[in-house]
Amino acid sequence: MKKDIRSFSEEQLCDFFIKSGHKSFRGQQVYEWLWKKSAYSFNDMTNLSKDLRLMLEANFVINHIEVDKFQQSSDGTIKNAVKLFDDFTVESVLIPTDDRTTACVSSQVGCSLDCNFCATSKLRRMRNLNPDEIYDQVVTINNQSLKYFNRSLSNIVFMGMGEPLMNYNNLIRSIEKISSDKGLNMSQKRIVVSTSGIPKMIKKLADENLKVNLALSLHSAIEETRNKIMPFSTKFSLEDIKESLLYWYSKTKRKTTFEYIVWKGINDTIDDVNALVSYCISVPSKVNLIEYNSIGDENFKSASQNNINLYKDILEKNKITVTIRRSRGKDIDAACGQLANK
Ligand code: SF4
Repeated sequence: MKKDIRSFSEEQLCDFFIKSGHKSFRGQQVYEWLWKKSAYSFNDMTNLSKDLRLMLEANFVINHIEVDKFQQSSDGTIKNAVKLFDDFTVESVLIPTDDRTTACVSSQVGCSLDCNFCATSKLRRMRNLNPDEIYDQVVTINNQSLKYFNRSLSNIVFMGMGEPLMNYNNLIRSIEKISSDKGLNMSQKRIVVSTSGIPKMIKKLADENLKVNLALSLHSAIEETRNKIMPFSTKFSLEDIKESLLYWYSKTKRKTTFEYIVWKGINDTIDDVNALVSYCISVPSKVNLIEYNSIGDENFKSASQNNINLYKDILEKNKITVTIRRSRGKDIDAACGQLANK
């Protein structure tokens, strides 16, 4: 079986050329085609002779994603269903606003976690995405941003399908590739890794010496309530998560953003707000209150605007930075928590 050439490092490609009787710099040229120029065919590598291209073709394949379904929302948001080399599908989203274009990318096929409010949780986790499959989503959205909005992609959030910290090594390799001058050369400061809260992995990420930002799906600072919303979280107490976030801050000096949805009858009481305030005071953090997008589950209904405003007011009175995030792409099921290969 032919190997995927994109799983080779630049050094390995140079070695391959040397061993097959060619100059080492051919490896650098091919690497540049594969990453900086995102070539999906050996034929595109026009600075290689025809014989060299045929030799590559005989030895390797270039696995890559393909947009299988393209949908655009009335608010401009684009959702791509992308097909992987083995026919699995994941979704990625381009979110345009006045001053930025954000790519929301997936890290796994399905998800092994069970956040009850999230459509992806209903899909079984089939496998992790490779670094190149994550990278390709970003390249695709960058091209769409240039085509439809006449500007490059400005931000990347790992908030699509899957828990990025459960595909840790490939997440790190994709970030390195995205930010490398041999890849997309995007600033790591414009990347947000969003996790549902796995303390051990948050600490590991803090030790990486990357410049990425961290978001955490909190949704309740009361243990019992959070366990009902995200049953897997019984394994990871709020106290352990707090400790890992303090470690994150001590290493990076960057605040964590808490992602927080307010649901009617679940976390919309004054006790819920007060618990969030105490938690925020104990960890350098800010809060995004996210508008809820129904996935058809009767148990989860958005709280009233009054209760959401109450959250905002009380957080602000306690000097906690809070932003209310309106949903984008709801009409094409592209909004937060709605990705389910529909
Ligand atoms: S919110 Fe994220 S971690 Fe939770 S089930 Fe959905 S995709 Fe998985």
